[in-house]
Amino acid sequence: MVIGGDVQSINGILEYARKAPFYQGRLPARSLTSVSELTSIPLTTKADLRDYSPFGLLAVPKSETAVYFESFGTTGKPVSIWLTEEDLDDNADEINTGGVNLTEKDTVLIRYPYAISQIAHTFHFAARQKGACVIAASSRSTISPFPRVVSMMRSLEVTVLAALPLQALLLARTAELVGLSRGEDFPHLRAICTAGETLTPRRREVIQELWQVPVFDNYGMTEVGAAAMECPFGKLHPLVDHFAFEVLDEDRTTPVELGELGYLVITTLKRRATPIIRYWTGDRVRLFQESCPCGAGYRLEVRGRRESCLQVGDRLFDLWDLEEMVDGISARGLWAAGPLEPWGLHFVVESDQLDHNDLGKRIGALEELYQIPLQFTLVPPGTFYDPEELLSIGEVGKPRYIFSAEELKLKAYQKSLRL
Ligand SMILES: [Zn+2]
Repeated sequence: MVIGGDVQSINGILEYARKAPFYQGRLPARSLTSVSELTSIPLTTKADLRDYSPFGLLAVPKSETAVYFESFGTTGKPVSIWLTEEDLDDNADEINTGGVNLTEKDTVLIRYPYAISQIAHTFHFAARQKGACVIAASSRSTISPFPRVVSMMRSLEVTVLAALPLQALLLARTAELVGLSRGEDFPHLRAICTAGETLTPRRREVIQELWQVPVFDNYGMTEVGAAAMECPFGKLHPLVDHFAFEVLDEDRTTPVELGELGYLVITTLKRRATPIIRYWTGDRVRLFQESCPCGAGYRLEVRGRRESCLQVGDRLFDLWDLEEMVDGISARGLWAAGPLEPWGLHFVVESDQLDHNDLGKRIGALEELYQIPLQFTLVPPGTFYDPEELLSIGEVGKPRYIFSAEELKLKAYQKSLRL
């Protein structure tokens, strides 16, 4: 099933795509007669994009391009994404469908990484279009370490923080370390906009509790832009005017029913410079048909990448499943998980504010519920991200939840309490 777009918009984007060397010969020469025909076109994978970068995906003359971005992978060669001026406008429109509803009264501190990646620039442009004042603080920069950003948020009366979820969490921790109270010392802050990492329900709750403001997440990637935005009612809606969505089984062929778990495939409907047809995102999702008071008719649940799942026997546990287990022992701190040898799951959890009463019982109940051996190793707060580092260098990478059994043991060895 294809959700979003119509046969006219899909034919429109196919016409653009045929101009890109990569898509020449991969797309039907004639127009489609129905939306469902889109599913007969081969998928585009990240490896395809990598192989054809930097110019093989380009569908307009170079003179029409306005900006260039790269998406980084772990395997070396980046994916090249070009945008025209109109693409930039569309991307800003996508961001501005979000529930945060920026106005000229807002001062937005952007803590997304600016270097070559798209989200900071798109968000920046979107905020400027709404008349908001932008502070381009960036991350991955030695110019703006955590304490400086916290200080700017306070002294410049920042109203909206835009950051990766982990950054929002670590900024809250930094504020605490330098003796600031998140509620009292940041009275102007009204919202946090997150993107770039899977925002699990519990991590959202923790960020909202820490900063005492609502979080508005967006789901997207440099390859396609912001494909789903959270509305004022806190629901993540796929942008059906900008993209066509499909959810396929792991076999990459069989469509799954609405509401069932599968992997998201996205076709950009408006992208002129680098249109992408049927992109296999690798993200594990559920797409629901349900109407929202904001007027949207679909809701998307993003549960993380296939690589962020732990497989035990024939069972697959994604980030949401793993987090539910951490929730089951009422732990609020950061956590990581890996395989337990010979069979089961091992969690290392920061023990901040953990109630130790009946902990063994809670773990037993979880083992009963999931029918799998579980081990929890509790470590002191600060094990995952050293407070000293937060106050000095202030650079952290992407969050990592899944480790090998050996790595996890290493993480857990210090001052830990095994249960
Ligand atoms: Zn809504």
